[in-house]
Amino acid sequence: MKDVLIIGGGLAGWRAAEAAVKGGASVCLVANGSGNSPDIHAINVPVREDDSVERFVDDTLRSGRGGCDPELVEVLCRESVKLADEFQFDRNPDGTYKLLQPLGCSVPRCVTIGHKVGAYALAKIKRDLSGKVEVVHGRATRLDRNFTLYTLHFTPGDGDGTLTARSVVIATGGWCAKYGFSDNPPELRGDGIDMAVSLGAATVQMDKVQYEPTVALAPERVRCIPVITTMLYDGATFRNAAGDEFLADKHANKDEISRAIFAEIAAGRGVQTVEARGSSRPREFGVWFDATGVPCETLDTVYADTVRRYQDAGVDIHKEPMLVAPAPHTSLGGLVIDKRCRVLRSDGTPIKGLYAAGEVAGGIHGANRIGGNAGTETLVFGRIAGEEAAKGENA
Ligand SMILES: Cc1cc2nc3c(=O)[nH]c(=O)nc-3n(C[C@H](O)[C@H](O)[C@H](O)COP(=O)(O)OP(=O)(O)OC[C@H]3O[C@@H](n4cnc5c(N)ncnc54)[C@H](O)[C@@H]3O)c2cc1C
Repeated sequence: MKDVLIIGGGLAGWRAAEAAVKGGASVCLVANGSGNSPDIHAINVPVREDDSVERFVDDTLRSGRGGCDPELVEVLCRESVKLADEFQFDRNPDGTYKLLQPLGCSVPRCVTIGHKVGAYALAKIKRDLSGKVEVVHGRATRLDRNFTLYTLHFTPGDGDGTLTARSVVIATGGWCAKYGFSDNPPELRGDGIDMAVSLGAATVQMDKVQYEPTVALAPERVRCIPVITTMLYDGATFRNAAGDEFLADKHANKDEISRAIFAEIAAGRGVQTVEARGSSRPREFGVWFDATGVPCETLDTVYADTVRRYQDAGVDIHKEPMLVAPAPHTSLGGLVIDKRCRVLRSDGTPIKGLYAAGEVAGGIHGANRIGGNAGTETLVFGRIAGEEAAKGENA
């Protein structure tokens, strides 16, 4: 038996493990993949001189279209500041931070480490925790609570197929893999939400899913991989089948962009894919995301990964546009938590010993998430969930 059992091996799960170990708890982590976290490119931390926690809060609430839980947003933005002391984010030669401006942020706010802050943070935490956490590979299928003890059933069993603990942190990410065309890995099907709901947990905004506007439709080799939207600020444009530019507003949010693309396709101006040979998939429609107006130097430095990926697929994005369509990307709804990451019932009372963090939790982003806020969420709330779970208040 362990003090804390963590379900999920993304950044929220590993961050919770780190905090729980620091809190003196014995910890076991169960996961059947790494989830979306290794793909986190950059996260929001208000480090610029003209930025502030208040400005970050305002941007998040505005982008959430009135649907955010203000208390959770306040925690997210306030606690994010501490990340700048903890991680060595990339800086310019003059010492200022290298920042990207995600859609929805009023100032550049996204920090990174080599454009791979998710993979970096995961590797660092795992390295620091080496030998201190029992890791079980498997898919959690059921969670039972018997008085003050939780029992998790998982498959395939790395042992007897059950694990017991006093506290549980659910960090199973979202459910976007349930959709046919998505940029999420297949294990992200909302299992953690089902398990918590079976114990009486409430959910919020389960109809809210963020679409990434620019996910590659073709060629097959890059299919389902998103193209970063910050390219818009650097001169990229959207074009329809006739080659006409649409959506000139560079400051549109992701939801507005996705809607504009769907409207273009619905109006019969979408670009049809050529069926992949041997594929049973029907032809689909997208639009052109045209980066030929982005300076070559910017493409080759800031977006070098995208350039390389398309090059390998036979497309030179310095000269040719990319065929993209919006795809389900982040679950915005999820389990109802309070600012201590306790999972709540619909009457607002906490389920003792049950915590949640990361994409599995709902209410933080409202109806539209600012790019970069999900990674910040995993680090901030993962830590809180681990600290709280380690206190062992499941009595
Ligand atoms: C391509 C892509 C790029 C992104 N880029 C950014 C970015 O640059 N900045 C940003 O802020 N956000 C970004 N996001 C969003 C961000 O990646 C996610 O919101 C975040 O990683 C969620 O972290 P998490 O730990 O909650 O879940 P995940 O990282 O998704 O991890 C979930 C974990 O739960 C496990 N799991 C699920 N079900 C079970 C089960 N039944 N049993 C056992 N284990 C289970 C999974 O295997 C995985 O280990 C991006 C998303 C995608 C898809």
